[in-house]
Order: sequence, then structure tokens, then C-alpha cells
Amino acid sequence: MSNRNSYQQKLLKEASFKRDNFTCIKCNHKGKKGYYEYYGGVFIDLVADHIIPRAMGGEDTLDNMQTLCIQCALKKDREDKHKINIFKKEMKWNKNH
Ligand SMILES: [Zn+2]
Repeated sequence: MSNRNSYQQKLLKEASFKRDNFTCIKCNHKGKKGYYEYYGGVFIDLVADHIIPRAMGGEDTLDNMQTLCIQCALKKDREDKHKINIFKKEMKWNKNH
């Protein structure tokens, strides 16, 4: 919740975009630059995605980040939700047995 934390998130996001050359790693969509009042310039159609979702213990490290376009991110989000549900069920199962 601290400012430092969100600053680190921003750096991580930028590092992920740079490493992936501002391109979606799934469909090769090139990011379009847009402007927000606060940041000056940001990519409006790219998402820095956690490969292993944080809900499943994925870490905030560059190794766990990938650049996706909005479309691919939405698709992955649906798949992740499914995986997270299975993950949670297994966690519950482990607790109860
Ligand atoms: Zn894509």
C-alpha cells in the first residue's frame, strides 16, 4: 500500500515492457503510446502480467513478468481465474485432510 511499493510496481512494469521490446509476447502486438496527466507517457494497450498470478504465490520479480496486449491479458486472466480456483480447492483439500 505504500508509495514506495507502487513505485516499485511501476519500475517493474517498465522493466518488463523494455525487456519484451514493448510488444505482446503472445501475438506480437506493438504497444501504442498514450498520455496520462501523471506519468507523461505510458503504453495504453499493454499490460505487465504476472506469469504465476500473485494469488498463487507468484512474485513481483522481472522473471515472473511478461508483456501482454489487453486482448491476450483478458484471455490469460480468464485462464488464471480457472487455475486459481483449482489452486484454492487444492489448498482447502490439503487443510482438511
Ligand atoms: Zn497479444
